[in-house]
Amino acid sequence: MAHRHPAATLACLALLTASTAAQPQQSSVFGTFDTSTPVSFFISPAERGSGYRDGDAELATWALEAWARNANGALRFEAGEESTALLRVYWVPANFGLYGEMRPLVVDGQRGAAVYIRPDTDALGPEISRLAREDPLFRDAIVYLTCLHELGHALGLEHTADIADVMYFFGYGGDIPGFFARYRDQLESRDDIARTAGLSDGDISRLRELYALPSADGDSR
Ligand SMILES: [Zn+2]
Repeated sequence: MAHRHPAATLACLALLTASTAAQPQQSSVFGTFDTSTPVSFFISPAERGSGYRDGDAELATWALEAWARNANGALRFEAGEESTALLRVYWVPANFGLYGEMRPLVVDGQRGAAVYIRPDTDALGPEISRLAREDPLFRDAIVYLTCLHELGHALGLEHTADIADVMYFFGYGGDIPGFFARYRDQLESRDDIARTAGLSDGDISRLRELYALPSADGDSR
């Protein structure tokens, strides 16, 4: 009998490339953004059939800000036009794949990234879709963490095998509803998402390694 495990098939191009060879420390198969100037970003409007809800763009913005404030000021983002933005966020329908995906972009010879987020939580398997239907904050936690994960790839971060990390790859299995619940349980209101990064110490230290930042100060909230 065919048995579908949505959690085990998280569609990340990242895995396909990142897992092919052991990478030395402080490198990334995707490279990093040039941080000498602010990184321009564009968040697409709602896309028909994607399950996009009002405010999802805000979740993507909060995810971007969470990475930025854990980078000791080295990463700055500024809104720009789609055609020139180095970092682009799109909302895609459920048939696109699971959760999200990141694709490298080259914009005017510069390294960029397009991030595809699937906000339709109804198609993530019976347990996750039920939790999301019963609890709007659980649903927003999924969309937020998906943005955070895919933006992490956009920044150059690869998957990890530690479920404490937002960069954890679901293909390794484990308690995926618990992965989202752990974050959701830190929230009392939707606004709490803006101040609750959802990044582990490991996520933050790898970000700082990648961008050659000091690791001692800052915090994960
Ligand atoms: Zn991934």
